[in-house]
Amino acid sequence: MSSPSIADNTVVTLHYQLTLDDGSIADSSFEGDPLAYLHGHGNLVPGLERKLLGKKPGDKFEVNVPPAEGYGEYDPSADQTLPRSAFPPDVDIEEGMGFHTEDDQGNPIPLFVKEVKAATKEVVITTNHPLSGQRLNFRIEVLSVRSATKDELKHGHVHGPGGHHH
Ligand code: ZN
Repeated sequence: MSSPSIADNTVVTLHYQLTLDDGSIADSSFEGDPLAYLHGHGNLVPGLERKLLGKKPGDKFEVNVPPAEGYGEYDPSADQTLPRSAFPPDVDIEEGMGFHTEDDQGNPIPLFVKEVKAATKEVVITTNHPLSGQRLNFRIEVLSVRSATKDELKHGHVHGPGGHHH
C-alpha cells in the first residue's frame, strides 16, 4: 500500500535543517528525532507548509521562505523596555526566552526577551519572533505521511512519537 501524499489532515514526519542567510544553522532535526506535525493546522510557518503540500515520503527539497511567510517582518515599534522588577524575582530572565501574555479577549500573545540590561536592571521584551525579518532556508526530507486520527484532528496536533503524549 502506498502512503498518501501530504494534504490537509495528514500527519507528516520529516527532517529539516534551517539555515539563515548569514550561513548559520538556526535549527536542525537531522542529528535527532524527526519533527512530526499535523498538516493544514498552522503548525508550521505558512511558506513552508504550503511547499510541503503534495510531497511524498522520500522527497527531498529546499525551500526559501521570505519573512512575510515565515516569522514576520521585524517591527522596531514592537520592542518594549520594562524594569526587571516587572517579572517574578524567582524566574531567570534570559535573552531569547519566550513566554505568553494575553490580550483583552484572553487570546495568547507570544513575547520574547530581546535583551537583559544588567546595569540598568531592565528587560527589553518584544512581540517580534527571534527569527522575524529573516529569510528561512529549509532543507527538508519527508519521512512518512499518514492520515490523522479523530483525536488528533480535534486537538489540532500530533499524538505519539514526535507529538503530544497525554
Ligand atoms: Zn492532543
